[in-house]
Amino acid sequence: MSTSTSVFCLFCKKEFISDKFLQMHMNRCKWRKDSVRNLELELEVDVNEDISTHGCRFCGKNWINREEHFKICYQRQEYKKKLENT
Ligand SMILES: [Zn+2]
Ligand SMILES: [Zn+2]
Repeated sequence: MSTSTSVFCLFCKKEFISDKFLQMHMNRCKWRKDSVRNLELELEVDVNEDISTHGCRFCGKNWINREEHFKICYQRQEYKKKLENT
């Protein structure tokens, strides 16, 4: 038995028990193409919580359709603006 440290998705911080599962997930992570998350990665802003299963991480509401919600989420737009001006 060697190291059994868990690994985390770079995008949504979901926890995985092995690199294999992590890679599988990362290829289809819903946060992967998120413009805000990519901006955060660029700016090296770390997200410390698992955001994979939450509702909107910006306003706290649950979404029915995430993409649609993100188009209208005020908090998300404000946060994005803030990042862009960093
Ligand atoms: Zn992920
Ligand atoms: Zn929202």
